Amino acid sequence: MNRFGYAKPNAVPDAIRQHGPQTHFIAGGTNLLDLMKENVERPEQLIDVNGLPLREIETTPEGGLRIGALVKNAEVAYHPEVQRRYPLLAKAILAGASPQLRNMASTGGNLLQRTRCYYFYDVGTPCNKREPGSGCGAREGQNRIHAILGHSEQCIATHPSDMCVALAALQAKVEVSGPQGDRVIDFADFHRLPGDTPERDTNLEADELITAVTLPAESLAAHSAYLKIRDRASYAFALVSVAAALELDGERFKQVRVALGGVAHKPWRLPEAEQALVGQVADKAAFGQLADRLLQGAQGFAHNSFKIELARRAIVRALTEAAGGTLQ
Ligand SMILES: Cc1cc2nc3c(=O)[nH]c(=O)nc-3n(C[C@H](O)[C@H](O)[C@H](O)COP(=O)(O)OP(=O)(O)OC[C@H]3O[C@@H](n4cnc5c(N)ncnc54)[C@H](O)[C@@H]3O)c2cc1C
Ligand code: SF4
Repeated sequence: MNRFGYAKPNAVPDAIRQHGPQTHFIAGGTNLLDLMKENVERPEQLIDVNGLPLREIETTPEGGLRIGALVKNAEVAYHPEVQRRYPLLAKAILAGASPQLRNMASTGGNLLQRTRCYYFYDVGTPCNKREPGSGCGAREGQNRIHAILGHSEQCIATHPSDMCVALAALQAKVEVSGPQGDRVIDFADFHRLPGDTPERDTNLEADELITAVTLPAESLAAHSAYLKIRDRASYAFALVSVAAALELDGERFKQVRVALGGVAHKPWRLPEAEQALVGQVADKAAFGQLADRLLQGAQGFAHNSFKIELARRAIVRALTEAAGGTLQ
């Protein structure tokens, strides 16, 4: 690990002002410190954001929920309003990591956690995300955990978060502050596909600070499910995960939202495919139709093609579960 400076401001404008080149914000440290220990990240300055007043969960004027960037993952998952109105989010968070990690990990940090691609963490191997232009070790290497959708020549990594898959389905927004002022980013536009710039995971600028995540009033709480398929029953990242949230009118779809995790560089959604189901009977044929649309163009590599059929089955199962009513 390299030597670095450290500051702990207690106001958002100070944190932004102190951000310079080779600077990183740090919250729970559960991802950044690992990356520093492996020499993947070598910041010259850390700005500890834990002194900032970003720890509230509050109702928005529109009737939604605003979750401060420093609220711990465990606090979000066990908050009574989240459990009652956004059970999908609570379930996704509790499907991730371990109790100890969830007690440390913050809302903002979860959004910005880096990929779990083995080559990204191993500085002795080529990786375009870590070192642009060096190549991609995973393409011809071990790629069991890698993407089947939206990948590029340069990078086939996946985004590892569970929480983000639920936030995508819930159509959350991300509030950020930076030197140019405040802005709000739709969750669908927050993370990026790798394209020719795999070193960039998100559309957040390096000197911008996440201040909160907001959830809309509409929560689709009655019919939701989070299904995570992984190699171990706990403490493992998703091979495939599905966040499904429905609104039903009798036996027909009124609203459909499905987001996939573990399959792409960002939570994968296809709003036009969801829209095509509105008015249809919510049965297995319709679930299969949506799965086919979501997985259209999926392409696996030497060790991960199994994910295509796995994802198809997981989508149908999650939708079946959601249609039956949210499990308590
Ligand atoms: C062994 C292990 C297993 C795990 N399993 C899972 C799992 O199954 N599912 C899952 O979803 N996650 C899992 N995680 C990941 C964990 O959820 C993340 O490490 C955690 O959410 C990151 O939050 P943090 O506050 O610790 O971020 P940090 O490590 O502090 O920061 C991560 C990144 O976010 C930036 N950052 C932090 N806060 C802000 C902010 N407010 N504004 C701007 N930038 C910011 C930092 O600069 C850094 O780049 C696992 C982690 C470990 C170590
Ligand atoms: S998949 Fe992406 S993160 Fe992994 S080695 Fe290739 S470029 Fe690096």
